[in-house]
Amino acid sequence: MTRIVYVNGRYLPYSQAGVHAEDRGFQFADSIYEVCEIKDGHLIDETRHMERLERSLGELKIAAPMSRRALGRVMREVVKRNRVTTGLLYLQVTRGAAPRDFPFPKGIEPTVVCLARRVDDHKRGERAEVGIAVKTLADVRWGRCDIKTVMLLPAALAKEAAGAEGAQEAWLVDRDGFVTEGASSNAWIIDAQGSVITRPLGSAILPGVTRRTLIDLLGQEKIPLVERAFTVEEALRAREAFITSASGTVMPVVRINGSAVANGYPGEITRMLRSKFHHVAEVSR
Ligand code: PMP
Repeated sequence: MTRIVYVNGRYLPYSQAGVHAEDRGFQFADSIYEVCEIKDGHLIDETRHMERLERSLGELKIAAPMSRRALGRVMREVVKRNRVTTGLLYLQVTRGAAPRDFPFPKGIEPTVVCLARRVDDHKRGERAEVGIAVKTLADVRWGRCDIKTVMLLPAALAKEAAGAEGAQEAWLVDRDGFVTEGASSNAWIIDAQGSVITRPLGSAILPGVTRRTLIDLLGQEKIPLVERAFTVEEALRAREAFITSASGTVMPVVRINGSAVANGYPGEITRMLRSKFHHVAEVSR
């Protein structure tokens, strides 16, 4: 089956789905994106993803390409045309194409790309059963990590370095030794008392949609949440550790820089949170 990609108003075969050579997304990373989970053919937490998309656009003064409703229709159409039941929806908006110059050009239309991809749920489930390894690296990103831009080179470099050591994610560490977040996830630990700890929102991390929904679940389960930064040393002594993202929901972390977290197996609370995550997440029909 040919994959279909939405580009600027048209649904195109994968091989023809291109944008202009002078698109500012390509030349300046002047662009933002969202990744949304698709489960049973439905978008998960669409409202929160749309809210964050609008915020990202606003922070960069990129014009909204269309209404939230119209964008929702495009997203659904992409899911449908690609017959994705379990997977991910990727939506990217750039400031548009114009002759290369740093200041914002006037009178251009944003570029919109939307694609959907299948994910092997079985494989992801198996990974969650075992847990993942993370490697810590210096956080060398810019000062506005709260905006979901496509400026992902530091994340790509970090993932590459982690992968070279057999780790599936990189945890980025600030100058004071505190973990900011994962290269493409939010970072969490659980202490000996059973409190769930994650870094508070701010310009150093992305306000994860999965993070937000997990906080709802913690409230429902009456599990104490502490929003504070934690160090790598603390994480190494933690009872449990995990990451959150739309692509993996709640994923246990069992090794940090080659050392086991607790007994080296996914923690009990983490497993419970993973199993109940979709009880609280919004399902768009
Ligand atoms: N932090 C970063 C840097 C990310 O790239 C992601 C995933 N896009 C997340 C956190 C998790 O965000 P979400 O739960 O919205 O996928």
